[in-house]
Order: sequence, then C-alpha cells, then structure tokens
Amino acid sequence: MNRSQNIAILGATGSIGLNTLDVAARHPQRFRIFALSANERIDALAELCLRHKPRFAVVALAAQADALGSRLGAGVTEILIGQAGLEQISAHPEVDCVMAAIVGAAGLAPTLAAARAGKKLLLANKEALVMAGPIFMEAVRTHHATLLPIDSEHNAIFQCLPNFLSGDLDGHGVRRVLLTASGGPFRELALERLQSVTPDEACAHPNWVMGRKISVDSATMMNKALEIIEAHWLFGATPEQIQVVIHPQSVVHSMVEYADGSVIAQLGNPDMRTPIAHALAYPERIEAGVGSLDLSGIGRLDFAPPDYARFPALRLGYRALKEGGTSPATLNAANEVAVAAFLERRLPFLAITAVIEAVMNDSCPRPLATLHDVLDADAAARRNAALQIDAMAAKV
Ligand code: NAD
Ligand code: MG
Repeated sequence: MNRSQNIAILGATGSIGLNTLDVAARHPQRFRIFALSANERIDALAELCLRHKPRFAVVALAAQADALGSRLGAGVTEILIGQAGLEQISAHPEVDCVMAAIVGAAGLAPTLAAARAGKKLLLANKEALVMAGPIFMEAVRTHHATLLPIDSEHNAIFQCLPNFLSGDLDGHGVRRVLLTASGGPFRELALERLQSVTPDEACAHPNWVMGRKISVDSATMMNKALEIIEAHWLFGATPEQIQVVIHPQSVVHSMVEYADGSVIAQLGNPDMRTPIAHALAYPERIEAGVGSLDLSGIGRLDFAPPDYARFPALRLGYRALKEGGTSPATLNAANEVAVAAFLERRLPFLAITAVIEAVMNDSCPRPLATLHDVLDADAAARRNAALQIDAMAAKV
C-alpha cells in the first residue's frame, strides 16, 4: 500500500460509525479519518474530532455548528452543515473511502453522492439501497464505484462469492443464497405478550448491540425483509434464490449454495468490526480486534425455518421485491414512520407491521426512473403511515 486511505464516515456517532473508528484506529498507517458526521450528540462528535482530527465535520444545523466550533476552537477541522455538507464530504476529491452509516432514508442522498463520485463505498445504510435499488446500482456501474457490503449477512455472502464484484448469481454457478437471521429478542416470546412489549425490550437484541431503529427492525424481522431486497440488488438474486434461515446463535453470518451442491458459509463472532475490517482493507485482511471463534465453547449451531405468522414483515419484504418499482421505497418509508412511533410509545409493537401492510395496500407501485420517483413514493408513504397511526390511536 502506497499511502494511507482517506476515510469519510457518514453517521460517525452511531454503532457502525464508532466500530469503524475502532478498526481504523488500529491501523493509523493505513487509514486517515478525513471527515465525520453526526445528527445529534454533538458532544460525542466533538470528542471524536479532538481524537481523530478530521479535515471536516458535518452537523445538521447551524446552532450545532456553533456549539461544535466553540468546543473545537480554531483547529484543523472545518465544520459543514446539512445535506449539502454530507454530499460534499462524500464526493470530496481527497476521499478514498466512504462509510455510509447514517440510519434510514436520510442517508440516501450522501450515499448516492459517494457512488456518483466513484468512491470505494462501504454500505451499512441498507435503506438507501432498498429505496433506490436500480438508480443506486446504475450509479455504481456508471461511475465505477466499488460497492462493499457491511451488513454482516451480505458481507458474508460477498466473502462466499470469490471474485464477485458485479453480475448475477447464475453466472457464478450459484443456486441460492441462505440469509441467516437470529430471530431477534421475540423469537420465542408468547404471542399474547408481543402486543405489550416495550421499546427497551425490543432493543435488547440477544447477539448484537445496534442503533434503536435497526434493533426494532430485528425484533419485527423487517430488518431481514430489507436484507432480502438488499441481497437482490447487491448480488442479482431473484426472490426465489433468497432463502431466510433462522440461526439463533448468529455465528454463521450467511451462506451461498452452488449448483454442485456445495454450501459455503462465513462464520465468526457476532461483531461488526469483522465485516467493517474486511471492507476497509479489501482485498487484504487486517486485525479487527475480534477474538477467535470458540466453536467448542459454543457447542452447537441451530437452524430452523422462519415463522411467517409471527413475523409477517418477512412476507412484506418478498412482496415489495416482487412488486418492484416504488414498492420497496413505500415499504421502507412506512416502516421508518411506524418504528419511530413505536419508539415514542405511540404505536404498539404488533401494529408496526400492520401499518406498513395498510400503506402498501393503499399504494400503487410505479416504475422507478428517477430519484424524484423514489422521493415521491417515500413522501406519500410517510403521509399515509402517519394517517394510519393517528387512526389507530383514535380507536384505542
Ligand atoms: P445508529 O442509530 O447507532 O447511528 C446512526 C448514525 O446516523 C448516527 O451517527 C446519527 O447521528 C446519524 N443520523 C441519524 N439520523 C440522521 C439524519 N437525519 N441525518 C444525518 N445523520 C443522521 O445506527 P447504526 O446501528 O449504526 O446503523 C446505521 C446503519 O447501518 C443503518 O442503516 C443500519 O441498518 C445499518 N446496519 C447496522 C448494523 C449494526 O450492527 N448497528 C448492522 C448492519 C447494518
Ligand atoms: Mg444484517
């Protein structure tokens, strides 16, 4: 390696952002933290800026910029604001690698900007790809971006597909991909208890420590629904080629089955620093701070089919993928609104998926030609989800 890579982290104060900084800090010769962003937690961002001394920091609002500026003083870090600031760091000519770790649709524009600037793009923000799949993948192809999946399942599939950077699965002799899922915290909870689970219970994932939105998505299994769509766009897998397998230990991160019957799996401790390190150093391998897998200590690995009655979100994921066009953007937006309402205790847990299904039933999927189509579908689904939530609250 000739010189260190300049890294921009979109969503630096989140779970993925902090894990990325942890891995990068283990290799100061390889990686330089060039830009960091945060939406809230300006104190946390200030600490990160003082430690990593990035050239740029991006915040959402002018008042936050003032607060950060007074913490940092006149130093090395220039402070930028809002979506324009995020897009500026994503596409900055000196940035080699962008970690897209903003949660939700807010990450779409800066993540797309990184693709359009032809960057090495580490994709954690699955919502961006789910919403705008064909537009996103076209930008990656046209601008020769290198898209590397951070989601542990997709990173595992990528590792089980040597030499795969684009194309489709058939061309690589693949029969199907097996997407593992822990089943979240409510896999075995009595069905009648599901109605009254709290946000803190939903966010207490058995194997992973993650942000609150993705934790709720894991509890409803909407996370796996989004990942089915993500696998379609990343690997060209058809809905029939994507099978979800419940695997409560989260040790096998996913598998690829080939035409000759071989099944290749990627295993490891459930620690996001492994896929992050894999993508940061790709195609080399580096130390990630993750301990050895103690298979004898774990003793057994279990697998089971998913329970579609308990987790109707899975069915909605396949439905959105098959409907195509704007349908995945509708699914994603309705989910974001419903999850936010659940986290604010305005919606019961089981109503999350009910709201999404009602919004999908009301919407007519349209072809996705431009980003406007995505944003229109997103806005319409958000409006309808808010109405559905109000109507449910009025009934209680
Ligand atoms: P998080 O909530 O811990 O962090 C989110 C980050 O995004 C924070 O830095 C926050 O400031 C920033 N952010 C939030 N809203 C924003 C907005 N409107 N504008 C700009 N920035 C905003 O989330 P996370 O768990 O780190 O997840 C980040 C992404 O990675 C999600 O898309 C998630 O699905 C994906 N992912 C996470 C994990 C995991 O283990 N945490 C695993 C796989 C995929
Ligand atoms: Mg995942």
